[in-house]
Amino acid sequence: MHRKALLAALLSGLAASGALAEQHINLYSARHYATDEALYSDFTKATGIKINRVDADDAGIIARLKAEGEASPADVILLVDAARLWRGEQQGLFRPVQSKVLEEAIPASLRATPVNGGSPWFGLSTRARVIVYDKAKVKAEDVDTYEELGDPKNKGKLCIRTGSHPYNLSLFGAVMEHLGPEKTEAWLKGMVANMARAPKGGDTDQIRAVAAGECQIAVTNSYYLARLMRSSKPEDKAVADKVGVVFPNQGTWGTHVNVAGGAVAKHSKNVEGAIKFLEYLASPSAQNYFANANNEWPVAKGVNTENPALKAMTGGGQFKSETIPISAVGANQVKVQQMLDRVGFK
Ligand code: FE
Repeated sequence: MHRKALLAALLSGLAASGALAEQHINLYSARHYATDEALYSDFTKATGIKINRVDADDAGIIARLKAEGEASPADVILLVDAARLWRGEQQGLFRPVQSKVLEEAIPASLRATPVNGGSPWFGLSTRARVIVYDKAKVKAEDVDTYEELGDPKNKGKLCIRTGSHPYNLSLFGAVMEHLGPEKTEAWLKGMVANMARAPKGGDTDQIRAVAAGECQIAVTNSYYLARLMRSSKPEDKAVADKVGVVFPNQGTWGTHVNVAGGAVAKHSKNVEGAIKFLEYLASPSAQNYFANANNEWPVAKGVNTENPALKAMTGGGQFKSETIPISAVGANQVKVQQMLDRVGFK
């Protein structure tokens, strides 16, 4: 009797001290946002689980996971684009997760299609791919659809980053889902004909190029514009003031929305901690954080946010976003890349 009680106490004591001393997750993150620090430290404060972080871009993380194979220490993977998340899934780098918390918080269209009952990855925040334009030279109604980016009326006006960047592959993959392959290829060809210069730089560079008069129309993720709008530097504010923004295709299929999202690594040694972290990222406090610190929109249902820049961009209200399943966007990228090669979209 005594011995049994002693043993039980000893075992539970060991389990408790082990849990307290050893709990950590290894996070491979492509979120390139300095403001995410608070997000991670709040998780550790709430759960006692420490986070060891490895930062790289989407492609770097996928390459590293493949190279490490079964020996990979990764538990959680955060990537910033649906096409890349899809690619990670295709390459078998993720472990499908069944979680009531994640299923209830995140709409099905923003999670990967389940495999053996679990989702291989989950969208955690959304960003719209919007069109900005020179307010002095371009009318909003001439750029209020993606289709018009390839219309001859916009010849010589367009600035856009390289076609094979994931943000563009995802946009083009979405357009292919809406218009079909033939119209999409003609559209891409039209955009090449409309370029003011060969693609170069990131999204912010395209916005700056419009403000500098190098081009009149550009394509960017919404948070880059919001960042300029909220910047404390007068020169950034001046850039934001010069450009107008449209959320394209409000009258048809809606604006293309991409996700930053997360997955549990295939060979995670702390699956429970990894799922806990993803569930934390879908919680109202973390979702609010995505909206207010990095100017993204929450994926979780019923989370309301107060972000002055996002409000100003959307005219105070909501915008209509596309409703295609986010997995379809990744599945189209191989065909899109072939089209880009054929039409000479660098
Ligand atoms: Fe980005």
